[in-house]
Amino acid sequence: MDENSQSSASIPAKPQPKITPWAGPLWQGCAEGKLRLPYCNQCEACFYYPRLWCPQCFNQGLSWQDVSGKGKVYSFSVIHQSPLPSYQEDLPYVLAVIELTEGPRMMTNIINCEVDAVSVDMPVEVTFEARGDMKIPQFQPTI
Ligand SMILES: [Zn+2]
Repeated sequence: MDENSQSSASIPAKPQPKITPWAGPLWQGCAEGKLRLPYCNQCEACFYYPRLWCPQCFNQGLSWQDVSGKGKVYSFSVIHQSPLPSYQEDLPYVLAVIELTEGPRMMTNIINCEVDAVSVDMPVEVTFEARGDMKIPQFQPTI
């Protein structure tokens, strides 16, 4: 059997995140084309990922803040083999940790550029990838 005979028509959809109640505003922001992060009213700082308390001071007095969506590549890896069939057409692709201008770091993909063009400290900005009825935050080189 030829392992490479799978046609693109049979490629399954990429997985969608499960929306927890405490992460709802993040995904609502994405749907509106905005990167919206939880904000600790005591530390006066955003954090990521969404939790019910601040990871720095454990305060539960939180709100939400729209951030710039700009940052830089903190670290990255070029993925040449994926265990998920839904990612086969994207190979090779970049899995990266982005450090936002506001401080928090996010694991994401770098899209809309050649994988060889990605480097540490490269300026990037958020863009949103439609996936089913959701929009997923991804990053691309700052234009
Ligand atoms: Zn805090």
